[in-house]
Amino acid sequence: MSKDLFKQLPAIDKWLASEVGVTLSAEFSSKEVAEVMNNHLSCIRKGLDNGLTTILPQFDSPQYEALMRADLLKQRLPSLRRAINATGIIIHTNLGRAPLATEAIEAMEAVARGYSNLEIDLGSGKRGSRYQHVESLLCRITGAEAALVVNNCAAAVVLTLETIAQGHEVVISRGELVEIGGSFRIPDVIAKSGARMVEVGTTNKTSIQDYATALTENTRVLLSVHPSNYRVIGFSSKPSVKELAKLAHENELIFMQDLGSGALAGLGAVGAIVDHTVQQSLAAGTDILTFSGDKLLGGPQAGIILGHAELIQTIKKNPLLRALRIDKLSLAALAATLRLYLPPNNPIHKVPVLRMINEDRDSVGRRARRLLRQLKKIPGLEGVVVDGVSYGGGGALPMVELPTRVVHVKMPGINAGELAKRLRATDPPVIVRVTNEELALDPRTILPEDMRDLVGALRQAVE
Ligand SMILES: *Cc1c(COP(=O)(O)O)cnc(C)c1O
Repeated sequence: MSKDLFKQLPAIDKWLASEVGVTLSAEFSSKEVAEVMNNHLSCIRKGLDNGLTTILPQFDSPQYEALMRADLLKQRLPSLRRAINATGIIIHTNLGRAPLATEAIEAMEAVARGYSNLEIDLGSGKRGSRYQHVESLLCRITGAEAALVVNNCAAAVVLTLETIAQGHEVVISRGELVEIGGSFRIPDVIAKSGARMVEVGTTNKTSIQDYATALTENTRVLLSVHPSNYRVIGFSSKPSVKELAKLAHENELIFMQDLGSGALAGLGAVGAIVDHTVQQSLAAGTDILTFSGDKLLGGPQAGIILGHAELIQTIKKNPLLRALRIDKLSLAALAATLRLYLPPNNPIHKVPVLRMINEDRDSVGRRARRLLRQLKKIPGLEGVVVDGVSYGGGGALPMVELPTRVVHVKMPGINAGELAKRLRATDPPVIVRVTNEELALDPRTILPEDMRDLVGALRQAVE
């Protein structure tokens, strides 16, 4: 019986020449149509093999044409697209890190649509520098003497070390020899920059004396790296930024800090949460520091370098800068985001990442209850609002836990993992957190304008 059905499956070429095949090939390309048809046929063959398929579709029917068209359109969806982050993890590298402020998006659009004064000095009409668009802003906000921006923080670290430490020794605590993620390992980065790493202290304890005794004639840099995604707690200690800066300066060395997240001072709840701000580092005597544009700053992917004018000047002359340079869209978004840190703006209200971090539990709870009311209208879904925890995000604020209210969602007969998978298959996809067989939606990271689409996605998921 199934042998007969196998024989009734159409040959691709023949089917492509049929009326339905020709119609679809005119709308799409015959290559795409053949690809989707091939997928259909192999699914049907599998079904016939295991006995689950007992009748064949009418390959020349309008219904089959509609089914093919839906699959073809699905295949045309862009690979990279908007997603809804219901995980409650605010700075999520896999979900694109910081959502941008409206002002940053508008600035990008203005520059993208046409030409710009990217590298022209409007006064003289001569060649200008792309870096001038953010340098004075960064200096005004942080109090740094000079600034430079590159593609990302990883690039900022490599470029800075390569410029100031090549051929010399870099002293670093064993407690800070971290991997940031994506194989960005500090020991490898120091090696790549052509410097020699000198490890001091232990994983949990490093004293200023450890640094002092490691200094040689060839030492050039004391490096401190923020162990962004892990923390040593308990029996641990390390010297303060001030002590390290003092030791460096007494020995005519450069004290460099890779802050990673780089919070700017005075950020409400964030200010209380982060252990160190960019301004505090500069005030404590850090000569040069690096941080990301798309972590706590809440802007686009970028690497920011702040420090002494002569150091920044030397870095600007490094030919590697050209290979690591920031593009005009990121530059426009970064400048617009930085302007949100200038009075009379309050970045907590303007920068989405800071707004999310500062939203209190009751406010998230109100949004959770509103979501629950919508969810209860969907047959097949059950939900309840409970206490939960939101996270700052790995590589940014891993240890920061914010009390929140989440909606636990259940679909009887379907386990949480399967429901999470269905939600990832909706358009836009919804990414959720599943812990202990509980699927939670955390409104903290769900943009208010995404609520409607989220309800739509929940509806799609039960269909
Ligand atoms: C995140 C991080 C980096 C890498 O920053 P990117 O912007 O992702 O390149 C480097 N150093 C530290 C300490 C970090 O936390």
